[in-house]
Amino acid sequence: MIAAGRNRVEERHSVSAHAEFEVIRQIETLSCDWRMSDCTLYVTKEPCPMCAGMLVNARIGRVVFGVPDPAFGGCGGAFQLHQAPNSLWHFPCDGGVLAEEAREVLQAFFRQARKKAKSRPVEEGDDGRKNIPDDPDVREDLSERG
Ligand SMILES: [Zn+2]
Repeated sequence: MIAAGRNRVEERHSVSAHAEFEVIRQIETLSCDWRMSDCTLYVTKEPCPMCAGMLVNARIGRVVFGVPDPAFGGCGGAFQLHQAPNSLWHFPCDGGVLAEEAREVLQAFFRQARKKAKSRPVEEGDDGRKNIPDDPDVREDLSERG
């Protein structure tokens, strides 16, 4: 293993702080190269379209993920960015590997994230929305991003 990462969206207040980005940045730094055709990325959940596009650009060699995301997955769930017909790079994806274990890891992660969110003071954004922990957008299921 040459790099590891996790979702840090809430921690860094950054929409791009998905685990895949963290790993790719580490590999770029370690290898001084953006081409990763000799790397396999293992991730708990199917990469989102943002990450799948980055993985195409990084020329990743292979992706293995646990939980498929039929609602917003970028590697076969909702989109097939890893096999886009006109793309200059394609990579194989193996989904559903250790899916139940990966689902448990994700559920524990989001449970912890919600617990932290409940301890934060309620803030109101410019649009009037509040980060109320019981916001219906904060869903229990695995369609959460990252
Ligand atoms: Zn992502």
